[in-house]
Amino acid sequence: MRILKIVSIALLACSAAMAQTQVPQAPVSFDKSAMDTTTDPCQDFYQYSCGGWRASHPVPSDKARYGRFDELREYNLYLLHSLLENAAKPGKHTPNEQKVGTFYSACMDEKLIDAKGIAPIQPWLKKVDAITVKQQVLDLSAEMEAEGLRPIFGFGTGPDLHNSTMNIAHVDQGGLTLADRDYYLKPDAKMVEVRGKYLEHIQKLFILAGETKGQADKDAKTVLQLETKIADASMDRVARRDPKNRDHKMTVADLEKQSPEIDFPRYFKLAGSGKFDSLNVGNPEFFQKLSGLLTSEPIENWKTYLRWRVVKGSAPLLSKPFVDENFEFQGKYLSGQKELEARWKRCTSMTDNSLGEALGPLYVASAFPKESKERMDVLVAAIEESMGKDIQSLEWMSPETKKAAADKLGKVTNKIGYPAKWKDYRTVVIKPDDFVGNARAASIFEEKRELAKLGKPVDKAEWGMTPPTVNAYYSPSENNINFPAGILQAPFFSAKVDETVNYGGIGVVIGHELTHGFDDQGRKFDGDGNFTNWWGPTDGPEFERRASCVADQYSSFVSVKDEKGEVHLNGKLTLGENTADNGGLKLAFMSMTKQLGDKIDTKIDGFTPAQRFFIGFAQVWCENVTPQRARELAVTDPHSPGKFRVTGTVQNSPEFPKAFGCKTGDAMVPVNACHVW
Ligand SMILES: [Zn+2]
Repeated sequence: MRILKIVSIALLACSAAMAQTQVPQAPVSFDKSAMDTTTDPCQDFYQYSCGGWRASHPVPSDKARYGRFDELREYNLYLLHSLLENAAKPGKHTPNEQKVGTFYSACMDEKLIDAKGIAPIQPWLKKVDAITVKQQVLDLSAEMEAEGLRPIFGFGTGPDLHNSTMNIAHVDQGGLTLADRDYYLKPDAKMVEVRGKYLEHIQKLFILAGETKGQADKDAKTVLQLETKIADASMDRVARRDPKNRDHKMTVADLEKQSPEIDFPRYFKLAGSGKFDSLNVGNPEFFQKLSGLLTSEPIENWKTYLRWRVVKGSAPLLSKPFVDENFEFQGKYLSGQKELEARWKRCTSMTDNSLGEALGPLYVASAFPKESKERMDVLVAAIEESMGKDIQSLEWMSPETKKAAADKLGKVTNKIGYPAKWKDYRTVVIKPDDFVGNARAASIFEEKRELAKLGKPVDKAEWGMTPPTVNAYYSPSENNINFPAGILQAPFFSAKVDETVNYGGIGVVIGHELTHGFDDQGRKFDGDGNFTNWWGPTDGPEFERRASCVADQYSSFVSVKDEKGEVHLNGKLTLGENTADNGGLKLAFMSMTKQLGDKIDTKIDGFTPAQRFFIGFAQVWCENVTPQRARELAVTDPHSPGKFRVTGTVQNSPEFPKAFGCKTGDAMVPVNACHVW
């Protein structure tokens, strides 16, 4: 199960695929019309770079956020859609084309899906009803795990924190429906309101699943109270950033002693796993409390909870009333999205999510020319070289730690575009008349594939994102940086612009991912991906001191301000991403300066190369967002909103005021800038 991998650190938050009614234009790099040149760049660089774009791109009715990332996503989605429409037509197709085409068209068959109503999940609901003893709660939970139905806790495989070359079993906290424990536990007015709406939502879905209003009302309360207890047993996001808090390797026997109500060997077997003696427990306290809850909570409450997990987990795949109610709460209420996106967009995204590496080759063939890979190789090498120089130039780091850092940097590997070896989907049966069954078949395939890795060496060639994804990531345990083909396009990367703009776009992205290896989380892993301390006695505390400057800086930013009050960014939650943004900007600028040499002052369109670099960078982050979505992201997202990704980094960049002639004391040039890398 993916969530158990040693957290890969992505460039931005994942979000549901997007929608728009017009065929979009291909995004462009460095867009002068996106700017607001009436604003002083030294006072508000985000508005200066993005003011025009933001004014002309309000959040569309079927989105909760719309930025340049989303613009590119949207563009990719249209391309995927045409590939899928083609694959779904009768004719000669490869087995993979056939599979994705059938998956897509079964998803598009709304009439059949509506006619089936709740029938696809009826077998699961019957299984829940048949439970008579507590052991069956866990047994069914394990069966749900095997089908990707996300039950009470997480179970899967991932690298051993201390022996990164080997896959071991991991169990971890899980079982919540809302996106964070805060939603259940925080006493503020907004969270109280969310809980009220959540109760109504549970009730409505239970009624659709056949319950009476009275029963559904009672059951909704049961679900909320049980999930609140699970939330209370869960570790918060900031604590989870520290690998030390998730590092608990133990024998299965010891885990059972700590959590006696859970028969783990039986659970693992039913979930489809082979035998093993030891594992990593992400949060042992969670399992102790869960064990207690299995005793203290009546069996009927557990049955209600499991029924809820089945209904809610399947709602987006079922008939229109389920889809609509799911959207009313999740999309409209929580995120402020006005309309559900068009079905073809949802089906295109679901095909990518379920059979990503069968669809991936089609996407790569039409969107990723060989030259893109060659140019990326050159850029990555340039940024890595800059990082090497940067490490050597740090005044605050001891020679020994510099050597260890350089050693780690030397071991970073990169993957660009798409996997060298694609997943083999031959065993996945996709039927034209069984959409829910198809989604389950894809989940079962993934679960089996994951569990088959137990006790085997880690395959670093495997990808954690599909090729069309507009994102990138660093994996601490694999010590590699990964750039799917989806992001290697404008506005990040274009053959049509001067290289300065590409350095501001994809150059900063490369630097960002590389710096993740040295942020508050990544620095705790060595070059071989093992969780170990390679820092000298004074260097670690000095890093922490510098990082806390960044945390304080971003905590001062206000993400949303409305009638429900003011929400500040959580500087500790976003520390790794902000550190990576700051490092990324610095490294990309160093590389650009080196490449351009004395041409650094040659103007294009009236802008110096340095100015074009910074504007190109800022324009990647132009975005509009609903206040509701901004609130959600402030709680759950380790990334800062676009505005602060720009403001925070340029405030810390010594090159920025030089490029725009700003002076200390201007809003973009604070007296106390923060410098980690
Ligand atoms: Zn990142």
